[in-house]
Amino acid sequence: MGPSDRSWKEKITRRYRIDGIEFAEDAPEMANALADTFARKLRPLCLCRPDGVPMYIARFDGQHLVKRMPSSGGSHDPSCAAYQPPHELSGLGPLIGDAIRIDEENGVAALRLDFSLAKTGARSAPAVEASASDTVKNISKRLSLRALLHYLWQEGELTEWTAAWAGKRGWGRVRTSLMEAAQRMTVSSGSLSEVLFVPEVFHPEDKSAIAARRATTLAVLAKSGTGKRKLMVLVGEVKEFAEARSGRRLIVKHMPDYPLVIEEWKWKRLETTFATEFAFWNADPALHLVTILTFGPNAAGLVVIEEMALLITTENWIPFETAHERQLLERLARLRRKSVKGLRFNLSPDKPVVSVTLPEPRPDPVAMFILPADADEAYEVALAGMIEARPEMRAWIWHVGEGDIPKLPWGHPRFKLSVERPALHFKLVGNALQISRACRPGQMSLFLRLFVFPECCSPSAHRRVAMVASRALVSSQMARARRLAMLRYICYMEAMIYQN
Ligand SMILES: [Zn+2]
Repeated sequence: MGPSDRSWKEKITRRYRIDGIEFAEDAPEMANALADTFARKLRPLCLCRPDGVPMYIARFDGQHLVKRMPSSGGSHDPSCAAYQPPHELSGLGPLIGDAIRIDEENGVAALRLDFSLAKTGARSAPAVEASASDTVKNISKRLSLRALLHYLWQEGELTEWTAAWAGKRGWGRVRTSLMEAAQRMTVSSGSLSEVLFVPEVFHPEDKSAIAARRATTLAVLAKSGTGKRKLMVLVGEVKEFAEARSGRRLIVKHMPDYPLVIEEWKWKRLETTFATEFAFWNADPALHLVTILTFGPNAAGLVVIEEMALLITTENWIPFETAHERQLLERLARLRRKSVKGLRFNLSPDKPVVSVTLPEPRPDPVAMFILPADADEAYEVALAGMIEARPEMRAWIWHVGEGDIPKLPWGHPRFKLSVERPALHFKLVGNALQISRACRPGQMSLFLRLFVFPECCSPSAHRRVAMVASRALVSSQMARARRLAMLRYICYMEAMIYQN
């Protein structure tokens, strides 16, 4: 297997500092250290940055996992797996601080919701989430249903993708990610995970046990008093909207024996509000239609949907809004480098948000924007402002009115693999870089990691090596042919690694 066959990044191990001791994430003693750290309520530090970035330990299914603190992804180095693009590029920006308050102490995000988790007899909820433009006035104060789903998706790392995960993300994986994310979120009544129901993967042979577990989770609905009825939030994949005498019955995948009632007028409104999502879903069976809804039993004991929103995703469960965005995601899905989908949250479609971020390309992460053909001047001004505010990122813009998808922003020349491999040998001796003719691949890759991919080593090591290496490259004592050979080799290795 050559370097082009797998991402160089997969070989990089993350390191943590826990109570003053450094651990590699794959160290055998890591499991015990995490259990101990969890019990002592300490925070591991991710060492992608010299000072370390505080992380959080989640316990899930008996395992301890190191997770980034809510909305702290921007503090990590772009090469770190915990990195997330800055909030300001997506619809998350306006929500932080008001609708979403980060509690650093406890590692949780306190959410203020724009929908009710209780229903009083008289008052009727708005049923189907108002279209995005209706909620603009309320943009930063509270989370709409769609914004909550976007936040769960993002914090559950379901917006991230690399081709290395192909075939590994099914509903079971999606469910675990959502439940884990919900554990780090609170709503007015307590943990979000107590009111969130995500159906588990259905196995016919386990049918009665699954139904029993579901009944236990949903028992909270039955406990409601007479005046005010409690509601729960469900996130699931739509299987079908079955015909009913009036309205529809929603059948959620993995939960065929638990239909939810949609009243006629709510169904009509749903069809109008989410016409785009329905159109994509009808056109391609590979796509997933995900729903987030509030539900509870009505006076007659039937399980009824109160409010509802829909999300369309690619087959890899990456949400998208337009055909152009889907086309871009399909291109990126085949690549081994990581891409991160930007989401809109409460923002209306006439506001720009980043479509995709590529954290890895050098020298800077890339923010990818799609400029709609009908974008007005205000949109373009807003987009330009967004790009200007983030000088640490390179912008890539697809003007869909001007033609097909532009070249993806790698910026690296592609060399044929038959380029001759010069026999050079690099060795660090003290503060000097020794170059000899015998090349050993191990040492070469170490050099490349330090010099070509500085983000994979500590900044001090990088500075030292980059300084020495660049001095060696420009040193007049070095033969020109050797300098060229060295540069050519670096380009060659880079091309191999970047060839996707
Ligand atoms: Zn990190």
